[in-house]
Amino acid sequence: PAKPIYAGELPPGLQRISNIVAVSSCKGGVGKSTVAVNLAYTLAGMGARVGIFDADVYGPSLPTMVSPENRLLEMNPETRTILPTEYLGVKLVSFGFAGQGRAIMRGPMVSGVISQLLTTAEWGELDYLVIDMPPGTGDIQLTLCQVAPLTAAVIVTTPQKLAFIDVAKGVRMFSKLKVPCVAVVENMCHFDADGKRYYPFGRGSGSQVVQQFGIPHLFDLPIRPTLSASGDSGIPEAVADPQGEVAKTFQDLGVCV
Ligand code: ADP
Repeated sequence: PAKPIYAGELPPGLQRISNIVAVSSCKGGVGKSTVAVNLAYTLAGMGARVGIFDADVYGPSLPTMVSPENRLLEMNPETRTILPTEYLGVKLVSFGFAGQGRAIMRGPMVSGVISQLLTTAEWGELDYLVIDMPPGTGDIQLTLCQVAPLTAAVIVTTPQKLAFIDVAKGVRMFSKLKVPCVAVVENMCHFDADGKRYYPFGRGSGSQVVQQFGIPHLFDLPIRPTLSASGDSGIPEAVADPQGEVAKTFQDLGVCV
């Protein structure tokens, strides 16, 4: 694949990270954070050293989805670097762990703060940093792509037609930035009840994306009460049920990134 585009020198905080994977969606509420967190914990379960950067300033999900003992990021006063918090060996940085005073910010300010948080965190040596991108394809997303040399992008969508149009925007953004989109996750694609499978949002838009944009992998995630409950409980499903159907899907996704 082509070398990713990023502005200037690679920041020291990111130099010892082998793979930086963006999990992206154009809309909120499609399950992007669920995918990011479960992917990260699956990779960790496969033996990798992993960090998660929750780049969503306005609606950080990481503090709900994982439950580290220490819920506040600390600053090293000498180096002025940020110490990630940790849960089950995965390093975590989120605005939700940054304390007060983060809610009211304008776009350019947000881009600056995100870049700073990402690059001044002491990630150390990592095999994977999973970035839970803010939804959309605006300035904040572009800045992130320019600050961090992304090695892969995973796009999360739901099966509706409108969601397909949004995914197309995301794919175009990453392709302009020369970041390979390795997989699409079609979330909430079906549910099983009374021995039958239902497709409440219709079928086929995921495979349409794969065909149209040549994305090599498509994964389906069903609507599952346990996925939602584990998201709220602070223990990701991939951790709570490592032999389950969801964990299996994330293992397959983990191999692609
Ligand atoms: P986003 O990051 O795109 O805003 P989230 O990952 O926060 O979306 O998901 C939104 C809500 O939907 C969360 O409460 C999450 O637990 C729930 N959810 C996501 N995917 C599923 C699924 N496949 N089945 C059940 N609930 C889900």
